[in-house]
Formats: sequence, structure tokens, C-alpha cells
Amino acid sequence: MLTGGTGYLGSYVAKELLGKGYHLRLSLRDPNKIHKYKHLSEIAQNSPGTLEPFEADLLKEGSFDQAAKGSDAIIHMASPFSLKFKDPVKELIEPAVKGTRNVLEAAKRSGTVKKVVLTSSVAAVHGDNIDMKEQGLAEFTEAHFNTSSSARHQPYSYSKVMAEKEAWKMEREQDQWKLVVINPSFVMGPPLSPHTRSESIQFLKDLIGGKLFLGVPHLEFGFVDVRDVAKAHLLALEREDSKGRYILAERVMSIWELRQMIAKLYPGKFRFKLPLMESPKFMIYLIGWAFGLTYPFIKRNVGYSISLNNQRSLKELGLTYTPMEKTIKEMVEALV
Ligand code: NAP
Repeated sequence: MLTGGTGYLGSYVAKELLGKGYHLRLSLRDPNKIHKYKHLSEIAQNSPGTLEPFEADLLKEGSFDQAAKGSDAIIHMASPFSLKFKDPVKELIEPAVKGTRNVLEAAKRSGTVKKVVLTSSVAAVHGDNIDMKEQGLAEFTEAHFNTSSSARHQPYSYSKVMAEKEAWKMEREQDQWKLVVINPSFVMGPPLSPHTRSESIQFLKDLIGGKLFLGVPHLEFGFVDVRDVAKAHLLALEREDSKGRYILAERVMSIWELRQMIAKLYPGKFRFKLPLMESPKFMIYLIGWAFGLTYPFIKRNVGYSISLNNQRSLKELGLTYTPMEKTIKEMVEALV
């Protein structure tokens, strides 16, 4: 059973599972929105696997029960990933935490589920970039949990750390299923569906489309290819020895470094309105509000370096990473 399979990451996970011949139960919030899963029905028609959609909402208690019953494993990805919201508790935190609880309750009641792979995020590993310096760390590893986010400050990150903690708590309370957690950094790569609404897509559209033309802050993120994220989920699902958390990041770079990568990939082309410069922090304090950046966010993130340790994903999960140059090239071309 896969939740969130209609999304950006989820579509690739569904594709991998169908390609490997699995019988896949796919959760849909609204089955009438056929455009959301048309691409998956088409993939299923040309794959050895089979697709069985079912209706479920993260906030509806018991709505995953029927699909979980008889399933061997669950990949739980569904969670709101949005940086634009009015009420963070209702729009982000409740669906993430209650949704995780509902899905894991369904796993427990199923009597058949043996493994749950949860899509968390590096946002559950750390909150602000300054956390690394404040905690005296040389890098973030799977041993770290985000302690600086809250419902008011970085609520998306807070939704991810609270949901992941809930999942670990529920795992400890039973012994029927085992939990493995994937913590991807910022996911990039071509979307499988033109209807994808993930912030990953919006971010790159803004970067090449001129929204950030006047300048970008010095902000660093980890980056990873969407297809590698899907492969990591499959490895976590299929490997008997998978356990704990796996940070996924091909590299850490700043938005400006990403901008330079795109400029180098398309030399001499002026079709993209790439940012003109990396703006000094005082400028970001002045204009950041226009882009939804709060004063505390700018203060605690702009100008601070981070380092993410991806060794568990390489050595224990056996993942190999796609170079970000390839990922970005294919994503830019898909968006164009
Ligand atoms: P996405 O394209 O927006 O997909 C989100 C998925 O969650 C969609 O399938 C959506 O269903 C489903 N969903 C949201 N709210 C729901 C609800 N109330 N009930 C049922 N389903 C609901 O986002 P994404 O980028 O693929 O992210 C997928 C997962 O990866 C999320 O858990 C996110 O936190 C995590 N993640 C993403 C990134 C990234 O950079 N993209 C990085 C780290 C972790 P609908 O199709 O019905 O909207």
C-alpha cells in the first residue's frame, strides 16, 4: 500500500513498484480527480505490476484500514508539502501527524503488514541552518532530530519531525511491523505528471522563470534526485537489513551555486531569467517579506553553512546518487 502516490515523489515510487511486478494499492484523496493518477494508470498498463486505487484521506480515521488489510508492507509518503498556508496547524501539522497515526493504526489492525517505510525529511533532522553551529556539530547525521522548529517557526519542518517522532513511538508500542525512515533533502528532477504541485517544482520554476531575478539569499540545502529517492524507498522496503533512518543528499549547495550550475549547463542562452546576484543579508532583511521569508527565518538561516552525512544511504542501503548536473538538466528541460 502506497500513500501519496499521486505526488511528485510518490509517482516515481509507484512506477518502480509497478515495474517490479508488485500489486499496488494506491491511496487517493479524491478518485474523481482522474488527472491526478492518469499517468499511473498508463504506467500500470505497460508494467508487470497491477494498480488498485482506493479512497482515503489522512484526516479520516479508519480510511486506510481496508487497503492495509492483506498488504505486506506500507510506504507512507502522503503529507502536505507546502510553504504557503494560512493555518499551519490545520493545513500542515494535523494532516502530517494525525495522518501518520491513522496509517500506522491501519498497519496494526491489518494483522498482515510487516514493514512500514515512512517518508520523512531532513527537515526532521534539523530545523534552521544555524542549528549546526549552535549545537557545535560538524555535520548532521541520522542521530539528530530537529529541535528548533515549532508551529510558528518553520511549521512544515515541525510537521515532519512531529510525524516522524509519532511513527517511532508507535513502532515501539508493537512488534508486528518494523519501521524504516527515509529522510530526503530537497528533491529535484523531472516530474512524471504535468499536474505535480510539489514545492520542488515551484522552486525551480521561480529560479528560472524570473521570480528571483533581482537576487537570492545565501541559503544552503541538501539536494537529491527524485528517482534516487524512489530507489531508496524500494531498497528500504526490500532489504531485510534496512533499519533506522537514512539521510538522502547527493550534495549540499547554495541557491546561487544551483543558479551557476544552470547558467553553465545553458551557456550563452538568455531564455531563463536567472537571479542576477547573491544578495547581502541586510538586503534580504529588507525585501524578504515580499517572498514570505520571516525575520527569524532570515536571521537563523541566511549565511549559515550546513553539512549532511549521507554515508548510511551509500554504505548500508547501497544507493548510488545521480550527479545533480544531470538531475537539474533533465528537470529544467521537463519544465520548459
Ligand atoms: P506532493 O507532490 O505535494 O505530494 C504530496 C502527496 O500527499 C500527494 O499525493 C497528496 O495527495 C498527498 N496528500 C496531501 N495531503 C493529503 C491528505 N490530507 N490526505 C491524503 N493525501 C494527502 O509532494 P512531494 O514533494 O511528492 O512530497 C511527498 C512526501 O515527501 C511528503 O511527505 C514530503 O514531506 C516528503 N519530502 C519531500 C521533499 C521534496 O523536496 N519534495 C523533500 C523531503 C521530503 P493529492 O494528490 O490528493 O494532493
